[in-house]
Parts: sequence; structure tokens; C-alpha cells
Amino acid sequence: MPHIAIIGAGIGGLTAAALLLKQGWQVTVLEAAAYPGGCAGTFFHQGYRFDAGATLAGGFDANGPHTKLADILGLTWQVSPIRDAAWVVHLPEKTIYQYVEPNPWRNEYLTNFPYSEAFWHKQEQLAKISWDISTRDFPFPPATLNETLRLPLGLRLDTFAAVPYLPRKLRGLLPRQTQPDFKAFIDAQLLISAQAISDDADALYGSTVLDLPRRGVVHVHGGMGGIAETLVGWIRSHGGQALYHQQVKRLDVKNGRVIAAHTNQSLRVEADAFLGNLTPWALTRLLGEAAPTSLRREVKRRHPMWGAFVLHAGLDASIIRQPITHHQIVMDVNKKLGEGNSVFISLSPLNDDKRAPQGFRTATLSTHTSVTAWDQLYKQNPAAYEERKAEYTERVLNAAERALPGFRKAAKLVMPGTPHTYEFYTRRPLGMVGGFPQTSLFHARSPRTGLRNLWLVGDSIFPGQSTAGVTLGAMRVARLVADETRN
Ligand SMILES: Cc1cc2nc3c(=O)[nH]c(=O)nc-3n(C[C@H](O)[C@H](O)[C@H](O)COP(=O)(O)OP(=O)(O)OC[C@H]3O[C@@H](n4cnc5c(N)ncnc54)[C@H](O)[C@@H]3O)c2cc1C
Repeated sequence: MPHIAIIGAGIGGLTAAALLLKQGWQVTVLEAAAYPGGCAGTFFHQGYRFDAGATLAGGFDANGPHTKLADILGLTWQVSPIRDAAWVVHLPEKTIYQYVEPNPWRNEYLTNFPYSEAFWHKQEQLAKISWDISTRDFPFPPATLNETLRLPLGLRLDTFAAVPYLPRKLRGLLPRQTQPDFKAFIDAQLLISAQAISDDADALYGSTVLDLPRRGVVHVHGGMGGIAETLVGWIRSHGGQALYHQQVKRLDVKNGRVIAAHTNQSLRVEADAFLGNLTPWALTRLLGEAAPTSLRREVKRRHPMWGAFVLHAGLDASIIRQPITHHQIVMDVNKKLGEGNSVFISLSPLNDDKRAPQGFRTATLSTHTSVTAWDQLYKQNPAAYEERKAEYTERVLNAAERALPGFRKAAKLVMPGTPHTYEFYTRRPLGMVGGFPQTSLFHARSPRTGLRNLWLVGDSIFPGQSTAGVTLGAMRVARLVADETRN
């Protein structure tokens, strides 16, 4: 029975672990933290269960990645579907409900952006093709000759309708009459789901993520971490190992293959194959001198990913009675998004009593931020770092107050987190989160690392971020590992 060691119990690592276990592998997952899920984990603090990063769970529709995974493994997610609006977008002059059902959604976009109908038709058509491709056995980007030869098998007649859009940016699909509020509405969604705004986001990928509200959005009982906790439960009950407090500090490499992982608890795990649920930067650090030249070159050449500034808040539920749990705010549609100008807020559902002490709710508020300024201040000017943290806290609270009046008064506990906090808790260098901006399908990162029995899994590889995205990526990696180890 081949043995695989997986570094990290994020959604990517756990999904690949479960799939390989199902195929008969011996599986050991080594997780540095005390709980699973990484950026999509849920942590306890003062009686609250706070979502560490991810809050919006999509991809639970009939053909969605989480549903497919549950079918393969025979597990049941502890979730309830959101049936009304997946989230609400608050622009300075407009409030737009992201309805789950197509008809109310059509009425909503026609009321707010009457000129946008042709755009949404095109978006829907492209999204349908992309979702269809991504849920079939379509090896993209092809990493081997075998995969290149298999590509045409994934194509159907209607797939060809997407071909002219392959080199295009989403901006090219926007209507001529586009006003700053419509562009900000589209860009805010692209930024959270493709890590790029319409000027840069790939047209096909962008169309797909604009469909997210209508692709099986659910509440995960007890918080987002429930996805990872369910996977760990499944792995353990099927004979796999998922060990916490085991941070991998070093990998032994011999003749182009990894032979063992060493943890901070002096555990040495030998295996036939290894998976890093890591960014390329983190993997390069772990490999040290043994990092292949291609990997070293890659991390030097690449721009950093985005970071996140977050607030975790404990709210008096008698003040914040809002039943819709997810809210997105753009403060000024003429300014760049992120850095407090666009904020995503998620409240725990009113009826989820596992998330907070009685009479309270949790909230996770986040905004995209560039990691480099935070890193420099943290290392060189701690006072300025603290000042910046206070300033960003104010920005995010201002945004919250706009969407949910009374937020400041209701907030009995407010804990800010910077990219440095993410670096500390998720071990992602510089606190870079959310994967690479999806600017071109031709630049998609494959799981390969330059070492024969070591692959990457998680949001650095195609199709990138979100629990649904990393689940799709992990399905592909599990197949690749099984194929390549057999050959
Ligand atoms: C603020 C924020 C908001 C987001 N919002 C959403 C959202 O609403 N919906 C959504 O679907 N997605 C969202 N995302 C993105 C989503 O959370 C991620 O894309 C996804 O969870 C990443 O999963 P991953 O498999 O790449 O692993 P990660 O989450 O990066 O987990 C990796 C794991 O590996 C562990 N690890 C790292 N190094 C080591 C080591 N050396 N040894 C042992 N263990 C190690 C870490 O502790 C961690 O648990 C958000 C992300 C952030 C940061």
C-alpha cells in the first residue's frame, strides 16, 4: 500500500488526502495548527467560533465540487442552503441583492443596471461552459503528454463557443454604457473570487466566478471550519492519520525525490509521495538547499499574492438583527478596491447557537490589502505598524456601519488581523492568501514542483482560491499522484 504524507490540513490537503485514502493509500496529514482548515478554518476565542478567513461557502449545488466530493466519499456535509440572497452589495447609491434564483436575480440586475442584460446572458453562457468543463475529467492545464492527449476528450460541441474568449479579459465583455457603479459591482466580486478586477481577470474564469451566488451557497453549521472538520472525521474513521501541532520544518531529498518530512515535534515521516498544501514560497523555504532551480526562479519572478486585513467581532445580537448574513460594501466606486474601500462582512446566522455566547453573533470582516507595506512596517517600524492597524480598523468599521447601522455599538469584541497575523497562523509567507490572480488560463499554475514525488495542492494551483476551487484542484492532484506513482 503506497504511503503519502501531506503537509497541511487546509481544504486542498484534506480533500486530496481523503481521495487517496479512498483509493487505498496510507495517508498521513501533518498540520501545524491545533485545528484544520487553514484560511477556511474556524477558531475558538472567548466563547465565539470565528471564521479565520473564508466565510462564504459555494459549490454545494447538484454538480458542484463539494457535492461531487461527498458523493465519491459517501459523506454528508453539515450545511443548510441559502435560498434567498447569497449576499447583498452595498454601493454608495445602490443596494443590490445577489439572489440565488435566476428570476429574482434578473429583475434585480435589470432594476439596477438596465443596460446590462446582454452582458449577463454572455456571462451565463460562458459560466455554464466553464462549470461543465471543470466538473468533468478535464486535465487543465495539461501537465503531461498523456494529459494533453486527453484534453480533446473533455471537449463537447458547445465548448468551442468559449474558444474566442480564451485570450480575452472580462472587461471586454462589459457593456459600452458601463457606469462606475456597475464596474465597481463587478470588480468587487471578481476581486474576492478571482483576485483580479475586470481589467485583468480572464474572461472565462471571471464569468464563472460571477455565477457563484447561484452555485449552491450554503451555511456550514458551526462555521466554515465544519468543511475541514468533516473531512478530518472521514479521514480518521477510514484509517487515515490527521495529526495536529505537527509543523513540518524540513524535507529530506535524495536523488530528486523527497524521502522524509521532519516536524517540530521530532516526528520523522517517511513516505512514497508527498503533497505540500502550501504556496510555492512556503515550499521553497521548506526545501532549502534542495529546492529545484525552477522553483527558486519562480518565487523570485512572481509578484506577491494579495493579503487580507480582517476584523473578528463579537456582536450584541439584539442590535444586529439583520437576517442576511453576507454583505459586501464598496465605499467609493471611483477609487481602487481593497485597502478598506471594499469590505466583505459575514455574520453568523441568527439561529446558529454554536457560534457565539447566547445573545451574541460573530462577524468576520475582511478587505484585500497589499502584503509588502505591512511586512516592512512590522519589521522596521512597529509603532507605525500599530498605527496602520488602528487606521484600517477604522476603515473597516466605517464600511460595516454603512451596511449594518449600529455595528460599532453592537461590537463588544473587535480583534484585528493583518497579513502578519495570517503568516503566523497559516504559515503562508508574508501572509499571502487567496492564490494567484486569475488573469489568463494560459498562465495557470500546475501542481508540479520539480521533484518527482512532490506536488503542490491548494489555492496556488489551478483553478485557484475558494473552498470549491481548491476542492477541484485537489481532485485533479489526487488523480495525478495516483497516475504518476503507478507508472
Ligand atoms: C480573508 C479571507 C477571506 C476568504 N473568503 C473566502 C470565502 O468567503 N469563500 C471561499 O470559498 N474562500 C475564501 N477565501 C479563500 C479560501 O479560504 C482559500 O482559498 C482556501 O481555504 C485555501 O485552502 P488551501 O488548501 O490552499 O490551504 P490553506 O488554507 O492555506 O491551509 C494550509 C494549511 O497548511 C498548514 N501548514 C502550512 N505550513 C505547514 C507546515 N510547514 N507544516 C504543517 N502544516 C502547515 C496551515 O496551518 C494550514 O492549516 C478567503 C481567504 C481569506 C484569507
